[in-house]
Amino acid sequence: MADTPDKPSREQAEAAVRTLLAWAGEDPTREGLLDTPKRVVTAYGDWFSGYDDDPREYLARTFEEVAGYDEMIVLRDIEFESHCEHHMAPIIGKAHVGYLPNGKVVGISKLARVVETYARRFQVQEKMTAQIAQSIQDVLQPLGVGVVVEGAHECMTTRGVHKRGVSMITSKMLGMFRDDARTRAEFLRFIDVGPGR
Ligand SMILES: [Zn+2]
Repeated sequence: MADTPDKPSREQAEAAVRTLLAWAGEDPTREGLLDTPKRVVTAYGDWFSGYDDDPREYLARTFEEVAGYDEMIVLRDIEFESHCEHHMAPIIGKAHVGYLPNGKVVGISKLARVVETYARRFQVQEKMTAQIAQSIQDVLQPLGVGVVVEGAHECMTTRGVHKRGVSMITSKMLGMFRDDARTRAEFLRFIDVGPGR
């Protein structure tokens, strides 16, 4: 993770993990837990690596020669792991991203990168959905963008109301995906979400 002036040191982060272990009722000096703070902090580096990346950079490299292809491009079932900013608990799910190009297309792996970068931050699913859509809209300037995110929130499945198998669906539609019912319906048919699933 990037170093910023007021960012705590690794040692401070590990001490915070020891505090949480003790607060939960553990003895952080117990042998099995000795390396846990180190592992947790390393895992955080992975789960929250999205703060180091600018998703818009992934979208900046576009191809203009697409032989006049002007139909919808959809990447569905992009798996992601994120963490809710309210409980720091995992959100596990899938994102579906579609856009209607306006002369410029981007390599499809870049769409998955954009999802991953926003997911690897503390998130609110609604915000993440909007961020993915807006970054594609701003950089590619397509005729429209649709993003649908399905997420299971462990803060809800493993605690609180303990509802397993519940997933939350959020969507953000921009341009023709918002204004044209047929475009939106085509997208939803491609990703197989919505009425009649
Ligand atoms: Zn939560």
